[in-house]
Amino acid sequence: MQRIKTQVVRIDKDPSRWNGQIHEIEWAAKLLTEGRIGAFPTETVYGIGALAMDEMAVERIFEVKGRDKRNPLIVHVASIRQAIELTTEFNDTAMTLANEFWPGPLTMVLPKNPCIPGVTTAGLDTVGIRKPDNAIALELIRLAGPIAAPSANASSLPSGTTVRDIRKDLGGKIDFIIDGGSCVGIGLESTIIDLTSKVPTILREGGLPTKEIQALIGDVNLDPSITEGKAGDRPKAPGMMFKHYSPKYAKVIAFMHNGSRLQTLHMMDQRGEEIKNDGKKVVFIFSGQIPSRMRDRMKRFGEVCAFSDAWQLGKHLFKKYRDFDRTGTFILVEEAEDFGIGRAVNNRIRISAGGNIVEPPKY
Ligand code: AMP
Ligand code: MG
Repeated sequence: MQRIKTQVVRIDKDPSRWNGQIHEIEWAAKLLTEGRIGAFPTETVYGIGALAMDEMAVERIFEVKGRDKRNPLIVHVASIRQAIELTTEFNDTAMTLANEFWPGPLTMVLPKNPCIPGVTTAGLDTVGIRKPDNAIALELIRLAGPIAAPSANASSLPSGTTVRDIRKDLGGKIDFIIDGGSCVGIGLESTIIDLTSKVPTILREGGLPTKEIQALIGDVNLDPSITEGKAGDRPKAPGMMFKHYSPKYAKVIAFMHNGSRLQTLHMMDQRGEEIKNDGKKVVFIFSGQIPSRMRDRMKRFGEVCAFSDAWQLGKHLFKKYRDFDRTGTFILVEEAEDFGIGRAVNNRIRISAGGNIVEPPKY
């Protein structure tokens, strides 16, 4: 692939401090309308966007990410009205959910308007749509039109949450990057709900906890890729069948809970010691605080990162994966408690670990 110049502009997250910076968003919007592609911040992770209606620009996104053509993109809108125009039926449930949770980390799958090119939706007759909760993203979409955008990273790697990560994966391949600071809002991708089935179905758990959706619209189904912890041959959320979220060089090992947290911590400690004795590097990531004596012991084997809760872990997980991504490094991650946002975090941890999941014996 021929390398091109990637122009970077910095824009404050907070629109009240924009002053003249609106020109920079106008500049980026113009590039998009001319068929260029570029990265922009959202509250979940950075996106790499092209105009959703521009077939050639969307093709380029697949090319630069090395993304499988069967994996559809999410179309980002700035208003419910724009969303309605992209579908043939924006039903009552969609309206209820949009009114409550947009802008926010919820993608709705709806019947697609034929005006959207097939490449954007990977040939499906549905489209995934969301309105992001980020002032820069919204202004860009308002000026340029609906933007198709997957996460800004090379396929299979952890999603990009900082400009440094994006430069590494996509510098020289995309036309621009809007640097809006790191995505410290959520740090995980959106929740995806399919509203074309009789009972709404969660296809991917993400930044909006499933229980909040249930509280508003009642019962929802969970796609088998969630309940069985793995994707089938033809999952409804096609993205779930591809390798995902994993560091390039480091290996992730996920440690589950089976009742006693202390037992899980001991297993991590033990494995850390073994790996260290084997001459490899160890990084521990914990989903909660750990006893100080244990922390001191583990520090002898490697780096220790303990987050205060599942939200904090979710926010920083991909960044940590990238920070410690070296050959010969093992990242030992403790799963979060499996409810609320913890479910989405655990999904990312398990997928990134491939088969390396340690389950303590049940009591
Ligand atoms: P990402 O790769 O994180 O940008 O998320 C895109 C994911 O959204 C895809 O991998 C799919 O799993 C899902 N998705 C997008 N559009 C659709 C759709 N029309 N039907 C089902 N899932 C979709
Ligand atoms: Mg992605």
